[in-house]
Amino acid sequence: MLEEFKPTWMVESIYSVSPEQLKARGIRAVFSDLDNTLIAWNNPEGTPELHQWMAELREAGIPLIVISNNNKKRVAKAVANLKLPFMSRSLKPLSFGITRARKKLGLAKNEVVMVGDQLMTDMLAAHQAGVRSILVKPIVQTDKWTTRMNRLIEKYVWRELRRHYPNLKWQEDLND
Ligand SMILES: [Mg+2]
Repeated sequence: MLEEFKPTWMVESIYSVSPEQLKARGIRAVFSDLDNTLIAWNNPEGTPELHQWMAELREAGIPLIVISNNNKKRVAKAVANLKLPFMSRSLKPLSFGITRARKKLGLAKNEVVMVGDQLMTDMLAAHQAGVRSILVKPIVQTDKWTTRMNRLIEKYVWRELRRHYPNLKWQEDLND
């Protein structure tokens, strides 16, 4: 069970993961959580770094798709500033959203990566969907109360992960 929470990679910030690094690992599309992974709740516009990174992916022909548990209306509103395609009602930690988005693109499991800030939803969903994953540090430390619940359980899972996988570490980027 513990292995289901284990990210493939852990990077401090997703912006340092370049299209070249992704392509070198056979990754042709990036799926991402929205809240606290791409944007902070208090900055829905996104940072200049995010926009720079999105432009790099676009130039490299790597689609970036938001995988969200929220309903269509809410996600559409949340990503309006970023102009990103999205999958709503993804039912993370289940695999549905990821698998639907992957099949829509006609890609194999090893050709997509799921990025997120939560072990309990994003990383578990990636595992369920059979795709690789990148855990990032949450952009801001304040969470919604539902997330706070998850964080509590997450604390426990972290302790166990560190105990079983002492080599787990935060990387600068995928080459680190
Ligand atoms: Mg999140």
